[in-house]
Amino acid sequence: MRQEEVKILEHKYFAPYFFKLTLQSKEISQSAAPGQFVNVRVTNGTNPLLRRPISIHRINRQTETFELLYEVVGKGTKLLSQKKQGETISVLGPLGKGFSTDQNKKTAILVGGGMGIAPLFALAEDLIKKSIDVNVLIGAKSKKLIICESELNALGIKLQTATEDGSCGTKGLVSDILQAFIEGLADKKSSSIFACGPKAMLKTISEIASKKNIACQLSLEAYIACGIGACKGCAVETTNGYKLVCKDGPVFDAKEICSYNAAYSAATLSGL
Ligand SMILES: Cc1cc2nc3c(=O)[nH]c(=O)nc-3n(C[C@H](O)[C@H](O)[C@H](O)COP(=O)(O)OP(=O)(O)OC[C@H]3O[C@@H](n4cnc5c(N)ncnc54)[C@H](O)[C@@H]3O)c2cc1C
Repeated sequence: MRQEEVKILEHKYFAPYFFKLTLQSKEISQSAAPGQFVNVRVTNGTNPLLRRPISIHRINRQTETFELLYEVVGKGTKLLSQKKQGETISVLGPLGKGFSTDQNKKTAILVGGGMGIAPLFALAEDLIKKSIDVNVLIGAKSKKLIICESELNALGIKLQTATEDGSCGTKGLVSDILQAFIEGLADKKSSSIFACGPKAMLKTISEIASKKNIACQLSLEAYIACGIGACKGCAVETTNGYKLVCKDGPVFDAKEICSYNAAYSAATLSGL
């Protein structure tokens, strides 16, 4: 992990409020792993004071570049969106613990809710290199919020989409298509789920994985300040005590996260 001024090679607006940044960094591109993130300084001033965490979307070790995909939701990301090609920005990274990939698993099911697809892209590319069968399920409110569809298709990935308004793919939630996908799986034991998205989606996916006894990793979001485990501001309760999203995560085994863990919740509710 290092703090570095990185050059913006490209900054693309590609959908309402969505941007893609291509950044030059030999060190980050060589050392980053899928699921890790960088903490980005969005201004040279002090407002906002804190850096903003953004997942590493794609890693290109050959060109020594990496990409970030982000949505403008507030002041920090708005300031970031105003940065121009050729400028530099300060990033701290790569940070956190990314996805772990088990070569014994033959099938990977990547589930992204909205911007949750961002860290799953680098994972998909990595799994393909490891000859794992990659299936991607993306959910969003409507068609215009489904992102990365053409890029995933270009990788030859089997892709399914779900939108709440039915404007693209199956009408409904991405967890509905996950449920159907799992029903059709011949070998659940050699399959793994990797998910990133809103909390409610992660909870449902975690429950589905638990019921069907399928390995599942979740990339969590939290309000991250320092990004390196010093401020302890992003603690989550796990079955092994409190852990930090920025340092011990953002990727966790679904069984470990108490608020998503059906067995733990039942025990807590019954006062055990
Ligand atoms: C490990 C990690 C990886 C992330 N990766 C990405 C990514 O790849 N692409 C992307 O677009 N976003 C990502 N995020 C979320 C991103 O960090 C926030 O959207 C960003 O910090 C918002 O900053 P802001 O100043 O624009 O918004 P603010 O003005 O701080 O907040 C605007 C709104 O967004 C909500 N919000 C802000 N931060 C978070 C958060 N961390 N979790 C949930 N809600 C939040 C606030 O409650 C508020 O409603 C990631 C977050 C984490 C923790």
